[in-house]
Amino acid sequence: MIHLEDINKTYPGAVPLHVLKGINLDIARGELVAIMGASGSGKSTLLNILGILDNYDTGEYILDGTLIKNLSENRAAELRNKLIGFVFQSFNLINYKNAVENVALPLFYQGVSRRKRNALALEQLDRMGLADWAHHLPGELSGGQKQRVAIARALITKPAIILADEPTGALDSKTSVDVMQVFRQLNSEGMTTVIVTHDPNVGAQTNRIIRISDGIITQ
Ligand code: ADP
Ligand code: MG
Repeated sequence: MIHLEDINKTYPGAVPLHVLKGINLDIARGELVAIMGASGSGKSTLLNILGILDNYDTGEYILDGTLIKNLSENRAAELRNKLIGFVFQSFNLINYKNAVENVALPLFYQGVSRRKRNALALEQLDRMGLADWAHHLPGELSGGQKQRVAIARALITKPAIILADEPTGALDSKTSVDVMQVFRQLNSEGMTTVIVTHDPNVGAQTNRIIRISDGIITQ
């Protein structure tokens, strides 16, 4: 699903920062993988490259058979919308929209009718055990519920891969276990899942841990 070859990334500036220093990595379809490392080691930069949110300088990234290199912004957005679901630490829900509307939003951008996108969003929320919360605003939900809404939103476009950046970073340890249980369930149904975390308990609930230190994969 993912093939990275000698990926290098430098953030320009008065003092350029060489953040990824020759990353080689393969992730197979259906894997559940954690990327772990200290703060500032380059985890989010790597995940953003995997998610076609950011460019790399040299090397090669092949995602599901497509070379991700020198893409136009339109093509990048098209591939991103087709292949990738994102989950973030801070949930990134829209506070004035209820759960169904948040989950349905990616379908709005795909031009799906209101009736159809709401039906699909409700179905996805139901899978997350949130049917009773569908018409509540994010502010009325617990952290774990908010993250499950965000996961439902990530799934609504039927992506090939889920990328999550510290998805349990804002949750207490019991809620973290619940959210990891959701990722494990999705993975058991075949979803390729990559989770950035610095929590060893989260890493332990995946099937492979990739360790990154100062822009280099060490393990
Ligand atoms: P992690 O997610 O492991 O904490 P990041 O990938 O966010 O690490 O950051 C790696 C390094 O790159 C850090 O030193 C960070 O300050 C720097 N960095 C991240 N994003 C940018 C950016 N957009 N511009 C410049 N430097 C950045
Ligand atoms: Mg980070």
